Amino acid sequence: MKLVLSCEHGGNRVPRRYAGLFAGCEKVLASHRGWDPGALWLAKRLARAFDAPLHATTVTRLLVDTNRSEHHRGLFSPWSAPMSREERDLVLDRHYRAHRGALERRLRGLTEAGASVLHLAVHSFTPHWQGRVRRCDIGLLYDPQREAERALCQQWQRLLLARSPRLRVRRNFPYRGAADGLTTHLRRQLPARTYLGVELELNQRSIARAGARRRALAQRIESSLRTLLAEA
Ligand SMILES: [Zn+2]
Repeated sequence: MKLVLSCEHGGNRVPRRYAGLFAGCEKVLASHRGWDPGALWLAKRLARAFDAPLHATTVTRLLVDTNRSEHHRGLFSPWSAPMSREERDLVLDRHYRAHRGALERRLRGLTEAGASVLHLAVHSFTPHWQGRVRRCDIGLLYDPQREAERALCQQWQRLLLARSPRLRVRRNFPYRGAADGLTTHLRRQLPARTYLGVELELNQRSIARAGARRRALAQRIESSLRTLLAEA
């Protein structure tokens, strides 16, 4: 099984053309609303370890959210939504369709050549949400209707827990894998037999800051993924 990685919220960069929209917004750009801290670090590490292609975006999701459908009301943020229709279309072409199109072409090429592909979209989530603590270290998001994705994520959960029984690994948490998102879109475009789309969600408490803690977590993810791919 071939591995392809993507990272939709890898950075909080604002292209110069749009700097005016975000003047004085450094705080929100630096927060979890602006990007997924730690996600690109892990995605790059996995790409190196598995010699796998990585498609990443580093433009802030507050300009355009590449993990939302074009019809989704969260596609543009309160900062970018006031742009003209022409300007929004330009943003979509440069910073949205370019990323999603390149990834889709790569996945289509592999699946049409007969390969089974595991697409891992790497994200991170904020540890607190609406006054609640999210009791989860790693979330595996998939479509429960897709037997192959369900079986793979159950096995991955088992492999992670075998390495570290105290790790809190949850399936379809903190979001549902079949909700609006890039993997959901790709499931409609690519054959179910050969395309497996999984969102890997890491708690920012464990992954956002450099240090021994996140290195240990990454090592467990890497080693369990190696076993998983060898078994698949
Ligand atoms: Zn994300």
